[in-house]
Amino acid sequence: MTLLADILTYNKTFVANKEYKAYSATKVPAKKAVLVTCMDTRLQDLSTKALGFNNGDLKVVKNAGAMITHPYGSTMRSILVGIYALGAEEIIIMGHKDCGMGNIDVESVMKTMADRGIDNHVFELLQYSGIDVAHFLKGFDDVYDNVRHNVQMIYDHPLFDGQVPVHGLVIDPHTGELELIHNGYDKLN
Ligand SMILES: [Zn+2]
Repeated sequence: MTLLADILTYNKTFVANKEYKAYSATKVPAKKAVLVTCMDTRLQDLSTKALGFNNGDLKVVKNAGAMITHPYGSTMRSILVGIYALGAEEIIIMGHKDCGMGNIDVESVMKTMADRGIDNHVFELLQYSGIDVAHFLKGFDDVYDNVRHNVQMIYDHPLFDGQVPVHGLVIDPHTGELELIHNGYDKLN
């Protein structure tokens, strides 16, 4: 059985047994918050449970490294939509210790791409078009700096009205312990 076949088989039973009832929620986050965090497997449930949130409490945006890589990319759009369309009144940026994006070996990733058939030509063509693949893949050197940088990117965004606190946290992926990096209430007008 493939993973997809397992998923589809399991899903039939899940729906038939009405197990979805345990997850009933509305589109609007009950705790009126957006959480941006990493796609790390250890944070799959821990990222909400360690903060005291349940299903339906908040909007969760996940990507590799909990990074806002571009002011007009999908992560920033999710944050802005959360605020202006879905009633979010707090933003939480949460990086984590031992993050894969904190020490990603870009050269090794590019070598794997090449080994799997991505022609060297493609890298050159992208470079010529202004896309440096090494830079595109690069994560960050320090998780604390990364969280501070992301928080600042939101504060500096032309479409952010400054009326929503932006908090910065770092979580330990083993214990769930939080470190407060930035208290968003300190910066409200
Ligand atoms: Zn991570």
